[in-house]
Amino acid sequence: MTPSVEIVLLNGKISAGESRPTALAVAGGTIQAVGDGREILRLATPRTAVLDCEGRTVIPGIVDAHCHVLAAAATGLRVDCRPSTTPEVSDLVDALRRDLPSQGEWIRGFGYDDSPIGLGRHPDRQDLDRVSTERPVRVDHRSGHGCVLNSRALAMVGIDRWTPDPTGGVIVRDHDGEPTGLLLEMNGWLRERAGGSEGPSRQQMDRAVRDFGEKLLTYGVTAVTDAGPSNGLERWRYFQRVTGDGTLPLWVTMMVGYDRLEEMQAAGLGYGEAGSRGLLTVGHAKIMLTASAGQLSPDPARLTDMVAHAHALGFPVAIHAVEQDAVVTSALAISDAPPLVANDGNLIPDRIEHCAECPPDVLELVARSGAAVVPNPGFLHYDGERYLSTVATDLLPHLYPVGALVFRGVPTVLGSDAPVVEPNPWASMAAAVSRRSAGGANMGGQGVSSVAQALALHSGRRRIAPGMPADLAVVEPDPFTTSTGDLANVRSVATIVAGQLFWLGSNYPEM
Ligand SMILES: [Zn+2]
Repeated sequence: MTPSVEIVLLNGKISAGESRPTALAVAGGTIQAVGDGREILRLATPRTAVLDCEGRTVIPGIVDAHCHVLAAAATGLRVDCRPSTTPEVSDLVDALRRDLPSQGEWIRGFGYDDSPIGLGRHPDRQDLDRVSTERPVRVDHRSGHGCVLNSRALAMVGIDRWTPDPTGGVIVRDHDGEPTGLLLEMNGWLRERAGGSEGPSRQQMDRAVRDFGEKLLTYGVTAVTDAGPSNGLERWRYFQRVTGDGTLPLWVTMMVGYDRLEEMQAAGLGYGEAGSRGLLTVGHAKIMLTASAGQLSPDPARLTDMVAHAHALGFPVAIHAVEQDAVVTSALAISDAPPLVANDGNLIPDRIEHCAECPPDVLELVARSGAAVVPNPGFLHYDGERYLSTVATDLLPHLYPVGALVFRGVPTVLGSDAPVVEPNPWASMAAAVSRRSAGGANMGGQGVSSVAQALALHSGRRRIAPGMPADLAVVEPDPFTTSTGDLANVRSVATIVAGQLFWLGSNYPEM
């Protein structure tokens, strides 16, 4: 029996290839029919929700292929220390001080930038001791890979001059060997040491995740990949609960931290395994490849072993690679390791995340590796001015080179990397086309040829056709006729995920 039609969209501009349909019907989580209003309305029953799109554009749901859902959600609970809000260290201290009366033990800030267009340096423990000497204070770097603690927080987690650097992490020290408060790549370590006391309560977190999910829906995003490098069984159970009870009503793919692969496998959760009635899926194995002090960690030989090991466990890898060196090393490791072959004989592609610095010779290695690439052109939109002042001129055209990757035939999908920047896929598409920042700063280099092509990269090439999953957004203004300068302002007025309407803008007329 065919399921009865639950939602009908009428009077839409539907992008469905050659034909110009204006209506579609949704049933049982899929698009059942696409056509003109009269024929589609014939499929409706008295219980069908009929949505008049009033000429607005209907697009396939957008996929954010690289996001840090919980960290992005948590920014709603923290003090904004991004350069736009706190341009100087003194502003940052003031902003954190204003948070003093709030509940919870820790005072937390996010988004500080040590670069010349931000604070110009990292804050240190003395700065944060001016916020409080009684309460622990922590402020996270915009990258999510570093944070600064005040003296109270350092004492609480047991860091002093005698504490050795944990594996993969760095306790930055001054000339006398005293910790400055700056910690690199130590999020997981801190979480364990602080026993969760540094984070929000479960209720606070649920509310923050609900708000963040709603924000994604307002952009027309219907699927998100969480790229957390320490994701494991505990995080899986969290996602299972929030996708299962509707707190986070989107398709979620959870990457698994490289160190958690065995833990997931032991629980029967190999790559591609699903939970929450299919809404949640196990994704790639996340490997961090970071450059600090001119040294890559892990080193190239170790990285190749890690790729091979993940493959042996049935997981394709997603390697975090920002700098040229890291991108080259990722591409070579993926080329060198034995490929991962699915049961049907097809290759399962690995991924290179970010691929920020990718001049032509590097791009060629990436192309030959067979990896898919997940760049974040939204960075150009939000941070273009910073790149212009910090990146070598000849490298600028090759930052997040979406157009060049596509032109070379490299499988490319776009991700926001929120909370580093806003999870606005329209900002990312605008920069993928124009190679410009929000303020108009031009990076040069090759953009993708059209908004339609950018959207295809951001929607997993999903189409609006019968039988396809009913992940849809009704957006305005029309992204295909809006100038790229305004593209970042496109929003969804109605977002449908797996056949259910989860977001309806308040200005949407009564049905
Ligand atoms: Zn990331």
